[in-house]
Amino acid sequence: ATPTALMVGTGKGAENGVLIRDGEAVQTMKDITAIVLDKTGTITKGEPEVTDVVPAANYDENEVLRIAASAEQSSEHPLGAAILQGAEKRGLELLDIENFSAVVGRGVKTDSEEGKILVGNQKLMRENDIDIEHLEDEVVSLEEEGKTAMLVALEGEAAGIIAVADTLKEDSENAIAAFKNMGLTTVMITGDNERTARAIADKVGIERVLAEVMPDEKSSEIKKLQSQGENVAMVGDGINDAPALKQANVGIAIGTGTDIAIESSDLTLVRGELSAVVSGLKLSKYTFSTIK
Ligand code: ADP
Ligand code: MG
Repeated sequence: ATPTALMVGTGKGAENGVLIRDGEAVQTMKDITAIVLDKTGTITKGEPEVTDVVPAANYDENEVLRIAASAEQSSEHPLGAAILQGAEKRGLELLDIENFSAVVGRGVKTDSEEGKILVGNQKLMRENDIDIEHLEDEVVSLEEEGKTAMLVALEGEAAGIIAVADTLKEDSENAIAAFKNMGLTTVMITGDNERTARAIADKVGIERVLAEVMPDEKSSEIKKLQSQGENVAMVGDGINDAPALKQANVGIAIGTGTDIAIESSDLTLVRGELSAVVSGLKLSKYTFSTIK
C-alpha cells in the first residue's frame, strides 16, 4: 500500500471509531475469511447481573448469596463482581475469608469463618467431589435460558445455584448478520459452558460455537482455523484474549477492554461495538480495491 492509502484508511477509520495500531492490518483485513468473536464483553456487554438464586435444602437465598459473595471478594472476574453486587443490593454482610484462590476456567475457592467455600462450574464441583445431582436439572434449565449458572458449596456440600445473565450489545445481531453477508465464517469463542454459549449464539445468529475453551487454549483454536486455510480476525476484550489476538491474522480489541488486550491487538474499536468491525472490513476492502 502507498502511505497515502494508509492515511486515508486511518483517517476514515478514526471517524468510524477504529483506532489502528498496525497499518498493515488494514490491508490484511481485506483478505479475512473468518471472524472469531469472544462472547463476554464482545457480543455481550460484559456486565453480568444476578438473575436467580436457587438454594439447596437447608439453605435460603440470602445465605447462598452471602457465602458466594464472601468467596468472590478478592476475585477479579466479572462473574465475581456480579455476585458481589447481588449481595450488596440485598445488604448482606460478608464472611471473613483467607487462602483465596482463583481456579482458571472453573471458579474460586477459599476458607472462611464458616468453612471451605467453592463457587464455580460443574467441573470445579466434580473435581472437589461435591454432589450436585439434585441441582443438575435446575442448572440445565438456567443455562438453556442463556444464563451462566454457578454452583456454591460450603464444607463439601452444595448450598445452591447462582445464575447471572449478561445483556447483548445493541448492534451484535446486525453486525453478525453483516459478517455472514460478507461470506465470513463467523465463530463465537468462550470459556462458558456449551448450553449457555449455544443459547446466546442462537439469539445473535451464530452457528459455530467453541465453548468451554480454557483461557490458554483460545490461541490454539485460532491456529486450528488457520491450519484449515482460514484467514482469521479475532475480536476480544479480556486478559484471556491477548494470546489469541496475537495469533490471529488481525487482532481486534474492544476499546473498553483490558490494556493487555489492547496492546496485543492490531486494531482497537474505540466505541466497543461490533458494527465498527463491519466498518473496518468495508473500509479495508474499499481502500485497497480503489488504489491499485
Ligand atoms: P470467560 O472469560 O468466557 O467467562 P473463563 O475461562 O473466565 O471464561 O470462565 C469459564 C467459566 O468458569 C465461567 O463460565 C464460570 O462458570 C467459571 N468461573 C470462572 N471464574 C469464576 C468466578 N470468579 N466465580 C464463579 N465462576 C467462575
Ligand atoms: Mg472474556
